[in-house]
Parts: sequence; structure tokens; C-alpha cells
Amino acid sequence: MANKKQSRVNYYRITLQWGVFILLIYMLIRPIFDKNYGADFEAFCPFGGMQSLASYFSSHSLACSMTTVQIALGIALLLAVVFFSKLFCSYICPIGTFSEWLGSLGRKAKMHITLKGNVDRALRLLKYALLYVTFYFTVTASELFCRKFDPFYASFTGFSGDVDLWYAIPAILLTIVGSFFIRQFWCKYLCPLGAITNIAVYALPAAAITLLWVLLTSVAGLTIPWPWLLGVLCLTGFLFEATTLKFLVFPSLRITRHDDLCTHCRICDKKCPMAIPISTVETVNHIDCHLCVDCVVKCPEKGALTVNKRNLRWLPSAATVVLIAVAITVGTYYELPTISENWGDIKGKTVKSIQMDGLKNIKCFGSSRSFANHMKEIKGVLGVETFVKHKRVIVYFDESVINSEGVKAAIFSPLSEIINFSGKTSDRVSFVKLGIDRCFDPNDQSYLGELLRKDKGVLALSTHFGEPVQATIYFDAALTNENNIKVAVSKEELVLGEGSEQTTIKTGFVVNEKGKTSGEIPVNEFLNLFIATTDVSFNKFESYTNDKMSVYELPFAQAADPEMQQWMPFLVSHASNDNGIVRIQTVFREEGPVIKIWFVNSLTTVEKINSMLKATEFTVHYPNKTSKKVKNPFTFNL
Ligand code: SF4
Ligand code: SF4
Repeated sequence: MANKKQSRVNYYRITLQWGVFILLIYMLIRPIFDKNYGADFEAFCPFGGMQSLASYFSSHSLACSMTTVQIALGIALLLAVVFFSKLFCSYICPIGTFSEWLGSLGRKAKMHITLKGNVDRALRLLKYALLYVTFYFTVTASELFCRKFDPFYASFTGFSGDVDLWYAIPAILLTIVGSFFIRQFWCKYLCPLGAITNIAVYALPAAAITLLWVLLTSVAGLTIPWPWLLGVLCLTGFLFEATTLKFLVFPSLRITRHDDLCTHCRICDKKCPMAIPISTVETVNHIDCHLCVDCVVKCPEKGALTVNKRNLRWLPSAATVVLIAVAITVGTYYELPTISENWGDIKGKTVKSIQMDGLKNIKCFGSSRSFANHMKEIKGVLGVETFVKHKRVIVYFDESVINSEGVKAAIFSPLSEIINFSGKTSDRVSFVKLGIDRCFDPNDQSYLGELLRKDKGVLALSTHFGEPVQATIYFDAALTNENNIKVAVSKEELVLGEGSEQTTIKTGFVVNEKGKTSGEIPVNEFLNLFIATTDVSFNKFESYTNDKMSVYELPFAQAADPEMQQWMPFLVSHASNDNGIVRIQTVFREEGPVIKIWFVNSLTTVEKINSMLKATEFTVHYPNKTSKKVKNPFTFNL
């Protein structure tokens, strides 16, 4: 008997699918209004999480920028497959939803086909091959290989980041064209996450193979590299899928048809997005069923189709929401280290650890790797763990070699930076040395430099380890003073960039005046601290004794101009055209910067050197043996 009141719309599923799309659109447009927001389209990617987990087990490192939330979502997806069904594919996956929409268009245009038989079975191998390649390269490089081709990631990031156009564009075209003409083309044949999901469907053989590998490698001591395990799991998944096209033990929830209530109208067959022939079976065991319950909703006969023989059409969507909520909550509170490494023998050593939070330069696998490499060079440090989400590091050390202060000093990266100095200042430079709270991280120090740049009288900044960090700020007393500097440092926010590129960074540095010192230094002392001098020998300088050479010295104010530093190699190259010139030095004297030109008396003269310096063009030579004329950027007072 037809039930007229029963809804024919799968509201649960549509709400979740549209919820995901609305979230993605929000992430896309939010940067227009919020310059500080950077959309992370992988933030909730379970596939990335699974790859990260694999790379963590194999190399104790997480793939770049992956967090525990993605890993928790990956685990939730696998649990969902076993205890419920392929819920992610059905309710969440944006590519799956998009493919379905394109498929509807193809059907309306009467250009949609369902592949069957051996072609259908053979094409299913592609997704397992893609899964193998993606996992292999992710685990070996700790970089998410799927970013190169993932149609979702490429489209939503605007082909930026790690996207490889040669992979991504064909993948997107294939997904669009394939989904239009062939039913769920991406999901059935290409999706590597679909391959993992189906391996999870065959959880018992997959678990047996994995257990055997663990026993052979850990107990029997055989050397069987993990890519072999991965390969066997992929092959097993494909063989089970292609030969049976059926669920075995899992998943636990299935669509059941009650023949006594069924009128064999075949509406369910037509409405099933995976083209499963439901009207001819008692229980839907087809491997492609993802428990979308569209068939249950569209069936006109009340009770003819159910979930596990009960009216549980709400259960898959409710389970999806609960699993995602639990995974995000667990992933948010618990974080796996991005890198966890120990080195050296800890036998008989007193191993201590310190934890430091808020290190903004710990932001991905690459920065964690360079941090670990740096700490490996510190005597007494035995291991590190990094946590990118909380910007945290834990460092293990041998207390008999180094103490916690020493470890902190080793973590600290001092900064020495010209701020507004352009080569001209009075004879003396003022300075103030202050403690700056909340400025330990290299990023913080660079933000401190940017805050100071807004005060045109600040000339340079250098930082030194201390608790709080010690910053020496050099300034021109004719243009600013200590109070202005303290105000600049204490600004709550730093605005960087202009127009659409503008971002606001919360700084919140606190000036700590305990132990404050201030004073003046001669300008040459300041220059020696911040400006690189030149000292280059050439034309066989070392073959001449001092009595064969003279030094021609003249004032050279431009040597103190940071902007002119880039031209010094051109001057040296040009000077080397005169065989008699053998060395060029710049020196910052109390009277001012000078250039010293060493020359061989018998080979050149001061007149020749003067005309070389006055030339309107320099002839410079490049390492590839080519030469070029460039305009002389210097002015010499000859
Ligand atoms: S189960 Fe399928 S064939 Fe049977 S009544 Fe429902 S829609 Fe029609
Ligand atoms: S059989 Fe039913 S639940 Fe399974 S995919 Fe088809 S419509 Fe969805």
C-alpha cells in the first residue's frame, strides 16, 4: 500500500552534503572580509590523516601541516566503514556530491551510462594503483602526494601550494567528463580514498595480512619493507572487489528489502546513485553501496526497504555527525608530534626535558625538520618532539652536559637587522637595551623589527637570548627617543602589506625595563656591527710581497649604505680588469668609511685606478664566463 505522507526527499543526506558545500564556500569567501584568515581546505581531510598516520608509523613524522584532527577523522572513517557503512563517501565527500550532480545532468541529457562486466571490474584496479602511488610517495617524502592531483584540493586552493598542473588538470577534466558520462566515475574507478574504504570493508583479510607482516618482521626478524605490505593490501582489496563486487562480513548496516511489501516498481533501482539492482535482492551487499538511503526514501511502499530490517534511515547521517564531532573533539585536544626523534645512547644518562610553547616557526614538517636538525648539533641534546598545532616543542637533554637554560639558548635564534638606516647618520648612534616579553620566536622577532620600522628614527635591532629576550635598539637621537621606541614596541597589532594583501598580526610584546641600559656608540662601531665590509683579493694578490704593492685609500661613504652592498661585487669584478689591482677592502673608520685599493706598482698607477673608478660603465664578468656592461652605480670623490 502506497504511503502518501512519507517524504520522498532524503533531507538528512541533502542537509549534510549542502552543509559541506556551504562551509567550503564560506572558507573561500571569508578571506575577502578577514585578511588574517587563511583557508585550510585540508583541515578535515581524512585521507590526508590516514597518509599522515602511515608516515608517522614508518618514520615518526607527520606529513607536512597534517594535524591530529585529520588523523582522528581518518580513523573515524575506517570505524564508520566497519560499524556502519561508507558514510564519508555518501554524506561528506565534496567530490562524490559533485560527481552525483554531474551524473544527474548526464542522465537528463540521456548521455549517462553504467559500465558493467569485465570493463567495470578491470577499471576498479586504477584506484588501488593510485592509492599505492599516493601512499608510497607520501610516506617516503612526508609530503602529501595527493595534493599534486586531488581535484578538490586543486580547485579550492586555486591551483596553488603543492598542486602539480600536469597531474591536477587531467584529474579535474577526467572527473568532470567521466562523471557526466559514466556513473560515479571518480568514486568507483579513481578515488584512492574509495580504495582504502573498500580495503576496510574487507577488514578481516586486511587485518590478517597486516598481522602476518608484523609477525614476520618483528618476531621472525625477516626484512619485508612496508611497501610490500601496502602492495599486498592494495592487491587484496582489488581482487576481493573485482571478483565478488560484494561486502563480506562488514559493514554492519545494510539495506534490506521486504519482498512481501515490494511491488517491484523498480524505482529504487533507478534512484540508486550507484546503479545497484536493489529490487532483485533481499539484502544489498553490493560493494558500491554507501548507505545513502536514497532508495529507502524514494521507495513508495512503506517498509519495503529498511536499514537492517528496521526503520533506521536516520542512523547513517546521525552516525556521520557523531563520528565527525567525536573525531574533531579528540583531535583538537590530543596532538601527535609532527616529528618525534631521539638520538644518542641514553644509558646511564639523566634525561630531562623542557617544553616550550608558542614557537610560531614550528608550523609544518619542514620547519620541524630543520628545528630537529639544529638541535642535533647541540651537545647534550638527546631528542625532540614538535607539535605544529600548538607550536610546541619538547626537547630531551642530558643534564650532565647541558642544562635547561643552555637548551633554551640553543633554541633561540638571535636577530641582527638594519631597520631604517640608509648610510647617513650623525657621528654617534644612540641605543637602548630592553627586555621584551613574548618575543622568543624568530617570527616574533621579525614582527618586532616591523613594529620598529614604523619609527623612522630607529636604525637597527639586535636580539640576544635572555628571559625575557634582550633587544638592543639603535636609533638616531635627532629623530626619535626611548619613549617613542617603547610605544612602538608595545603596539598590540602590526599591520603588514597594503590593499588586498594587508594582514593584521596580534603582537602583544611587553617591554621589561629590568636591567635596562642605554647610551651612545661611535657610528663606525655601529657600522661594524651591522654592515658587511668587503675584502676581496684577486689577480694573484698572494704572489706579491708588500714592497711590490701600494695601497690607495679614499673616502667611500657609499660603503655604509645597505642598499649599495649589492653593487660591491660589480666594483670588484670591474677592478679586476686592471691586472695591477689585486685587492679591494672597505673599512669603517672613525672619520668615515674608506675604500682601500691594493695595487702592484709596476703594473698600474693611481691615475689608471681613478679612471677605472670614474668610468660611466663597469665591465663585469660572470661565473659562466660571460661579460656585461653595467652603469657605474658609485660616486667617488676623486
Ligand atoms: S523496494 Fe524498490 S522495487 Fe520494491 S517497491 Fe520499493 S522502490 Fe519499488
Ligand atoms: S543501494 Fe540504496 S543505500 Fe545503497 S547506494 Fe544505492 S540508493 Fe544508496
